[in-house]
Amino acid sequence: MTNILVTGGAGYIGSHACKALKRAGYTPVTYDSLLTGWEDAVKFGPLEKGELSDRARLDEVFEKYKPAAVMHFAALSQVGESMRDPGMYWRANVLSSLTLIEATVAAGVKNFVFSSTCATYGDQDNVVLNESSAQYPINAYGGSKRAIEDILRDFGASSGLESVIFRYFNVAGADPEAEVGEFHQPETHLIPLMLDAIAGKRDALTIFGTDYETPDGTCIRDYVHVCDLVDAHVLGLKWLEEGKGSRIFNLGTGSGFSVREVIDHSRSVTNMDVPYNEGDRRPGDCTKLVSGSTRAVEELGWTPDRSTLQTMISDAWRWHQTGHYDK
Ligand code: UDP
Repeated sequence: MTNILVTGGAGYIGSHACKALKRAGYTPVTYDSLLTGWEDAVKFGPLEKGELSDRARLDEVFEKYKPAAVMHFAALSQVGESMRDPGMYWRANVLSSLTLIEATVAAGVKNFVFSSTCATYGDQDNVVLNESSAQYPINAYGGSKRAIEDILRDFGASSGLESVIFRYFNVAGADPEAEVGEFHQPETHLIPLMLDAIAGKRDALTIFGTDYETPDGTCIRDYVHVCDLVDAHVLGLKWLEEGKGSRIFNLGTGSGFSVREVIDHSRSVTNMDVPYNEGDRRPGDCTKLVSGSTRAVEELGWTPDRSTLQTMISDAWRWHQTGHYDK
């Protein structure tokens, strides 16, 4: 079996990726500090505990498993936090990724799949966000991810490292079999917070800003199902294995939904009331982020067929009701 090193394999997206990799016949080797990940989410291959910044530990793991490729998910990913503590984001995301990329090259591994973000585009009114759009990140999270894209480009030129970079739009939903799902501590993402509020596990949801220039005044995002997202990663891996070379793909559906529309869908999926109030804007939030590209569909053969708001919320709700991480 072919080993794939999965950094952040104990996290939300990484754990779903491990399941998809196993299903596709690979062995996912999770490399995770367990700082924000969960040991019991590592179900589909071995766990190697370690810091991304620990070069000696990374070298040891590369030597032990001789992975054919790296999938790099481990990162800090909260926009608001990145505005409050940018240094933490540049250190944890950029410096650690540089260490990982150097270790990858030193181990002779040529294929690298990287989780980037639509936050690298920033706030661009009325612009279709495709892979060649300019990148003007407005928060340190997006800035740090863009810097890692630059590092990958430079190492591609200097050492032949081939990378598939995925710029995610808003990832949502959970494994329909509810083996893994979303759980952050603290939770900051819209859908899990809303489901907690519906279930009475936390106070009402606060809508961050109702005075944006959108039809209902709330921010618009393009939501993509986590299972569709990780399927694209397996396709990206095969793309690299087939020697097709470095490429950037947006992962979004092209349909945007406002915060109020997500609330309405959650009400209809759960048949329960959504307690919410209206608050101030959250610093760093873009008005609208919607993918304007179908490159992943056309070139990778990606079929994001679970990415309807209805399916994402009902899969997240099923996972939520397992009470998996209720303490
Ligand atoms: N949001 C909100 N209240 C919350 C959390 C998020 O109104 O408690 C909004 C946020 O302003 C953004 C959208 O929901 O417009 C998605 O936010 P999330 O944090 O889930 O993802 P992000 O877009 O920051 O990656």
